Amino acid sequence: MNYDVIIAGGGAAGLYAAINLPKDAKILLMTKRELLLCNTALAQGGIAGVYNSPEDKTSLHENDTYIAGGFQNNHKTVHMLVEEAAQDIGRIIELGVEFDRKEDGDYHRTLEGGHSRRRIFHHKDATGREIAEKLLAYVQTLPNVDIRENTLLCDVKKTNTGFSALTLHEGQYETHNSHFFIMATGGIGRVYDFTTNSAIATGDGIMFAYHLGAMIRGLSLIQFHPTAFNNRHTRECFLISEAVRGEGAYLLNCDGERFMQRYDDRLELAPRDVVSNAIVLESRRTGSDEFYLDITHKDPEFIRNRFPMIYQNLLDQGYDMTRDRIPIYPCQHYLMGGIAVNSDSRTRVPGLYACGECSNTGVHGNNRLASNSLLEALVFSRHAAQDIAKKMAHLAEKRFTEAEFDLHRDAPPVPHGIRTQLRHILQESYFVKPDAQKIQENFSRVCEILNDLDDGNYQINSDYVEARSTATIAFLILNEALVEEKGV
Ligand SMILES: Cc1cc2nc3c(=O)[nH]c(=O)nc-3n(C[C@H](O)[C@H](O)[C@H](O)COP(=O)(O)OP(=O)(O)OC[C@H]3O[C@@H](n4cnc5c(N)ncnc54)[C@H](O)[C@@H]3O)c2cc1C
Repeated sequence: MNYDVIIAGGGAAGLYAAINLPKDAKILLMTKRELLLCNTALAQGGIAGVYNSPEDKTSLHENDTYIAGGFQNNHKTVHMLVEEAAQDIGRIIELGVEFDRKEDGDYHRTLEGGHSRRRIFHHKDATGREIAEKLLAYVQTLPNVDIRENTLLCDVKKTNTGFSALTLHEGQYETHNSHFFIMATGGIGRVYDFTTNSAIATGDGIMFAYHLGAMIRGLSLIQFHPTAFNNRHTRECFLISEAVRGEGAYLLNCDGERFMQRYDDRLELAPRDVVSNAIVLESRRTGSDEFYLDITHKDPEFIRNRFPMIYQNLLDQGYDMTRDRIPIYPCQHYLMGGIAVNSDSRTRVPGLYACGECSNTGVHGNNRLASNSLLEALVFSRHAAQDIAKKMAHLAEKRFTEAEFDLHRDAPPVPHGIRTQLRHILQESYFVKPDAQKIQENFSRVCEILNDLDDGNYQINSDYVEARSTATIAFLILNEALVEEKGV
């Protein structure tokens, strides 16, 4: 079959891309297992964003994102994320997504670790399922989208007009062709023994993109969630949402003592990496891996109403969270790195886009701020769709040259000093002998410069071309040195 766009993935990113593509685009959207088996449907806590919140500011959301990310985030994409949150949260509400409200009718915004304001919109403790179901229901009404479930993307090849995909459905192979391809295949949790991720999360899209020639960035930036239910047996770890700590739960060690004061002033509301790290350090200190979340000091009715899914899942495991401490331990949860994309979700391979957890837009830096990932999936899948829409218009008009080469005639020249900065970085990081510490320190800055140049919002002249070449070569050298350093 021939399509304009093939989307691999039916989580938040894949569905929202389909919704935002032109209504006359012929689209194939596939999911490798059942439609709702994905990380999106597992998201509990919610979606972060400043939406109709006079007491909050996008600048505060932006700052919280930088703090969680260790200031290694891409400034441009973070700014887009927080500024465009209202647009996409508003849109999914229009599409039928319901978020919990207070008695006065305003939305109930919850707090999670690392957020300086209550800005997490949620649907009880099953926000992801609500979003996945409502977006899916809408996509199912679109006559231009051919949805195929239990359809595994087995391979993708680049052709001279786009892509050819090989799929497998109930033992039958099929090939499909498209001008554009969107990878929205989610995370990688299943490469670990213990993870919160769904069974589909084996990094397929990252593997395909890598083989197609896309740049893969930051794959060692993995977030470990501090509070997975610790049943010590199964691979799939049931998550005890960050919002439980947001609503006042204490973290206790094996002696039943709160211990976060030893590691961070923000106590239980410190960002995830800080809490996970504190648990590991405390475990070494006490010689025990027994840890608990305790919310028994809160009103039982409030707990049951606020966390119905967690409450029920724990009851099924023999724990009543209104009376019992919950055994927890960290486990793999989220991938910050992935297929490197620019702010329009374009990879380096013409026509290939990536969005959602399999992509790396740079918004999370070294560590994701809680509830920023559903938002990232929405904002940047919309950008992918909008970019494709522009290119499809060019295709129809047969203006291949301009469409391909976006000349940006009215754009500013590339800023002074970029090449000098890159040369200094390379000189101090990799001159005669690699300096491992400097490489580590400088690598993300090189990525940031390269991303900015790849976005291409500058006049195309020799300064731009040479700055882009310098950044690309610096990236490749430092990347290779990092790989060798880690002994991969
Ligand atoms: C337990 C849990 C709780 C979370 N809580 C939150 C939260 O509260 N807030 C928040 O912002 N984020 C949360 N996250 C993270 C967030 O849910 C994910 O990052 C986000 O939903 C990813 O969306 P996605 O569309 O990129 O991927 P997914 O939703 O995982 O979708 C991936 C899709 O790709 C398809 N696919 C994969 N490989 C193939 C293949 N080879 N062929 C065909 N199809 C394929 C799958 O079938 C699936 O449809 C949570 C994650 C987990 C696991």
